[in-house]
Amino acid sequence: MRHKIIAGNWKMHKNAQETGSFLNDLINEMPEEKEVEVIIAPAFTNLMLATQILEDTNVAVAAQNMHQAEGGAFTGEISADMLTSIGVQTVILGHSERRQYFKETPALLANKVDTALRHKMRVIFCVGEELKDRKSKQFQNVVFYQLKDSLFHLPKEAWENIVIAYEPVWAIGTGETATPEQAQEMHQFIREQVAHQYGDLANNVTILYGGSVKPDNAQTIFSQPDVDGGLIGGAALNVGDFTAIISAI
Ligand code: PEP
Repeated sequence: MRHKIIAGNWKMHKNAQETGSFLNDLINEMPEEKEVEVIIAPAFTNLMLATQILEDTNVAVAAQNMHQAEGGAFTGEISADMLTSIGVQTVILGHSERRQYFKETPALLANKVDTALRHKMRVIFCVGEELKDRKSKQFQNVVFYQLKDSLFHLPKEAWENIVIAYEPVWAIGTGETATPEQAQEMHQFIREQVAHQYGDLANNVTILYGGSVKPDNAQTIFSQPDVDGGLIGGAALNVGDFTAIISAI
């Protein structure tokens, strides 16, 4: 069901002690009575600690990645079963850093999405164009194929467990954000593509914006009609900034 989400992607930051102290501070400083789901995606090694600390709160825990296979000889990898067995029900897939540095292809990502859904996990699926695509006005085309190649094979009922994060690559970690108008244009475009493929359920899909969201720009981005919240990188590493972003929605 479509709802407001603020998710923090910690990437390869925060050891166990830092994770524990951030999460305890977050619990104490969490804005009250906000109709927003808060999600934290720590490193694999800290997922169990995070699920324990957050057990009786309404902050959810997500993994930043997972392997597509059920299990087997894949040294260094983590399966969906391993995640759900410690209470992690949400996974981020298709982040641009996974696509860029780890060569994750649309076909591989489709496979990962299928595995996650088979395990009844929720997927936060990232799409977004590079700067060259924006300059050459190919950005909608690029995002369309990212959706088509990894998500449009899914049956309608699977969409209950799909959240999309639109993250223009040129705005990730660069301090440069899409303007509220650019974000709205792309979120509306994404919703329209889902609608062409699946009809009315597009109105129920949660679409997050990611790319240098900070306390001072969050509110204008979140006020756009098709923006349902944010996937936050750098600003999710500081409790004060993160709670300010939660308050902004
Ligand atoms: C991200 O990596 O998903 C992200 C949005 O990072 P940042 O907020 O730092 O741009």
